[in-house]
Amino acid sequence: MANYYNKDTVLWLNGEIVRSAEATTDLYGQTLHYGYGVFEGIRSYKTASGETKIFKPVEHYERLQKSAEALNLPYTWNVQELIDATYQVLAKNNQQDAYIRPLVYAPANMSFNLNTESHLAIMTWEMQPFLGDKLLRVYSSPFQRPNPKGFYIHAKAAGHYVNSILASQDAKAKGFDEALLSDMNGYIAEGPGANIFFEKDGVMYTPAAGNILTGITRATVLEICAELGIPVVQKQCTIEELFAADAAFFCGTAAEVIGWQSIDQYQFPLAWNESLGRNIQTQYKNIVTEKQTAALSL
Ligand code: PMP
Repeated sequence: MANYYNKDTVLWLNGEIVRSAEATTDLYGQTLHYGYGVFEGIRSYKTASGETKIFKPVEHYERLQKSAEALNLPYTWNVQELIDATYQVLAKNNQQDAYIRPLVYAPANMSFNLNTESHLAIMTWEMQPFLGDKLLRVYSSPFQRPNPKGFYIHAKAAGHYVNSILASQDAKAKGFDEALLSDMNGYIAEGPGANIFFEKDGVMYTPAAGNILTGITRATVLEICAELGIPVVQKQCTIEELFAADAAFFCGTAAEVIGWQSIDQYQFPLAWNESLGRNIQTQYKNIVTEKQTAALSL
């Protein structure tokens, strides 16, 4: 098991800084039993100036609120308060390059009824890129993403991640590094915790909004492409198109931008270092660490 905290680590819980080792939760909680809660995945970076900066904190905390509201979880916090709380936790934990996990969870409630309050915990830990830094061998999973008619898929709800875990574990059991899931209509959708882009003849393609979590990193990649003059098409994409692509990558807060070696038996013909994705990856790293080139200031 990974080491998320030690005896000195703190977290933020309902407005207070408490030791992670001493923080408790209720075993009768509705979130633990039913996956009825929402969370965020955020990163902070040691920037070029040496300062710690959370990347796109407003976007992440606004999404947290939207996720909570979609699920009817009472939400009483504001964005600035949570950004301040996060910097406080990072400073107390002496962390600069960190992964930040805010979790909104329900109180003890074994029914399906509404609650009158929620809890919010903000945890931080040091984490390397979620999918490693080697090119990925990806498996076209038989698992589909949750049907948008059964879930609010724009919400980052805890329970959705059972689907992610199933697909990812299945891909790994079959000898691959990660899964690519389809949507309910069979179009390619996203990874268990990241969005996908692929390159064909100098154009980037990515699944359109509708059946995916449109990630904050995906939005950053779109901004980078606009800035660099790389054409991007957002549409329903088929697995056949991917099997004929030049290159591909996953992007997400935890994964950052990580290139693919293959999908199933198909090896991407374009060397990663020659691909548009490689350029986007470099720009992404420069933006999050504020090592900005004059040409690119997002
Ligand atoms: N899709 C899914 C299913 C995810 O869990 C994530 C991670 N939050 C993403 C895409 C990427 O989102 P973001 O770039 O906002 O981290």
